[in-house]
Amino acid sequence: MSTPFLSVRDLTVDFHTEDGVVHAVNGLSFDVEKGTTLGIVGESGSGKSVTNLTVLGLHNPENTTISGEIRLDGDELIGASRSSMEKLRGNKVAMIFQDPLTSLSPYHTIGKQIGEVYRKHKGASRAEARDRAIEMLTRVGIPQPKTRVDDYPHQFSGGMRQRAMIAMALVCDPDLLIADEPTTALDVTVQAQILDLLKNLQDEMGTSIILITHDLGVVANTAHDVLVMYAGRAVERGTVKEVLHEPRHPYTWGLLGSMPRLSSAVDVPLLPVRGTPPSLLNVPPGCPFHPRCDYVKLAGPELCRSERPELSPHRGHGDACYLTLAQKREIHK
Ligand code: SF4
Repeated sequence: MSTPFLSVRDLTVDFHTEDGVVHAVNGLSFDVEKGTTLGIVGESGSGKSVTNLTVLGLHNPENTTISGEIRLDGDELIGASRSSMEKLRGNKVAMIFQDPLTSLSPYHTIGKQIGEVYRKHKGASRAEARDRAIEMLTRVGIPQPKTRVDDYPHQFSGGMRQRAMIAMALVCDPDLLIADEPTTALDVTVQAQILDLLKNLQDEMGTSIILITHDLGVVANTAHDVLVMYAGRAVERGTVKEVLHEPRHPYTWGLLGSMPRLSSAVDVPLLPVRGTPPSLLNVPPGCPFHPRCDYVKLAGPELCRSERPELSPHRGHGDACYLTLAQKREIHK
């Protein structure tokens, strides 16, 4: 079996706040293979963004405790020095965010911003950096790149800004791209174009991608594997086909049920998730999903309310729920 490009094992991230300890991520394990996309799905506060900021070393060491392993291409990132993490960011791992306006400086041209990343990591001259910026804008489908390279972010449309962000993230040919809700702020047509662009760039450059989203529709069209997170834990993991067509965890059923446009593609009734996610300051004992779950009685109230179900081993289709496979299949046949 090949070694995954990114391997996260038993990752725990706690934030120490005035109100107490926020258990943002708890015992999380997953892999990302080279050239594939892992979709990480969950509601706000499920720990999906924190996980990825931790991979990038973008947490505040003053108030954060981290344990576990994060191995990227064989190198351990937990405990790595600040300078080695800085070298890694942009060069080997890059990130794109939901709202490019918060990541792009309004005071510098698009070309300068893309070129600066290239200069910093590759030691290129200004002229080389400008040529590279034009090349990247061409790659991401910006029309008239030789002219638009001198535009400021406000002169670009929302979709073009997101393309420019992708160009900036990929300018140093990173091996891993982390995309945090990259299309949420865009209308549906532009969203589809951006997701197609990411797929094409992945085919061309062999980049591994982690796509963070609350939208299983995005995952269905883009990812190879899926990790469903709830209250800082993985509750289901598998290939897109396994998780979307044979979902096993009641929370995944809920996520799928709350997305009507997927209901014809997957054979699952509409079951919106009732209630709200728990505070990570005070995660319920037992299965963290039990206050919102309709199957506690069937699985065993004692068990669901007192003992935390574990996700089965690191590979293959797995979920963290006490219902038997036969019960799950019976409920969703
Ligand atoms: Fe629901 Fe129990 Fe399964 Fe948790 S373990 S999802 S509470 S049935």
